[in-house]
Amino acid sequence: MNSAGPGVVVAVDGTSGSGKSSTSRGVAGRLGLRYLDTGAMYRAVTWWMLRHGVDVEDAEAVARRCLEPRIESGTDPAAPTIAVDGQDVGVEIRSDAVNAAVSPVSAVPAVRARLQVMQREAITAAIAAGGIVVEGRDIGSVIWPEAEVKVYLSADASARAARRAAEEGGSDVEATRESLLARDQIDSGRAVSPLVLAEGAVHVDTTDLTLAEAIQTIVDMVERAGDGVSAT
Ligand code: C5P
Repeated sequence: MNSAGPGVVVAVDGTSGSGKSSTSRGVAGRLGLRYLDTGAMYRAVTWWMLRHGVDVEDAEAVARRCLEPRIESGTDPAAPTIAVDGQDVGVEIRSDAVNAAVSPVSAVPAVRARLQVMQREAITAAIAAGGIVVEGRDIGSVIWPEAEVKVYLSADASARAARRAAEEGGSDVEATRESLLARDQIDSGRAVSPLVLAEGAVHVDTTDLTLAEAIQTIVDMVERAGDGVSAT
C-alpha cells in the first residue's frame, strides 16, 4: 500500500490498444492504488443493449434504456471485475459484437452522463483509500481534470493491432487493426467528450516501449508529482 495521506488520481487516456489497460494495472499494482477501467463500463452497457435487442445505432433507444443495467466495477488491479445485473461479464464484453457496437453506444450523451456519475463516485471512494489509476478516453479532460498525473498513451496502429490480437488469443491482426481504427475515428470525432490530449497531460508513445518501461515511465511521473507515494 502507499503511504500517501489524501489519495492520488492518475488519469490514463488514449486510443484503443495503446497499452492503457496493462500499463494502468501495472502502475496501480506498483503503487498500491485502486484501478478503474472505464472502457469496461461502456462495454458493459453495450453488452446489455445487445442482450436486450436494443438497436445500438438508435441513439434515442439507447438513451431511453441506459439507466436500466446495474453496473458494478471491481477496482483491484490484480483482478479487476465487471458485472451487469449481478452477472460477471468480463469475457463477454470483449466479443467482436461488443467491439463493433461500443463506440456508437459511448457517443450517446445519456450513457456518458450516467457513467460519469458512477466514475466520479468510484474515484471519490478510492481517494479515501489511497488513490486510483483510472483509464479511459476522457478522464483527464472531463471526469477528473484535477488529477495529479495525466497521461495520454498512444502507439502506432500496427503495434496496437499486433498487441490487441495477441491479447485476444491470436485473432487476425489486419481485422483487429481495422476495428481499432474505426473505433478511434468515432471516439475522436464524437460531439460529447471526444478523445483529446487533456490540458496538462503528458503524451507517452508506447510504440517502442516494453510494458515494464511504460509502467516505469508513469510510476516516475506519479512519484515526482506525489508527496509520500512510494513504489513497492
Ligand atoms: O478502452 P476500451 O477499448 O475498452 O474502450 C472501449 C470503448 O469505450 C472505446 O472505444 C470508447 O468508445 C468507449 N470509452 C469512452 N470513454 C471512456 C472509456 C471508453 O467513450 N472513458
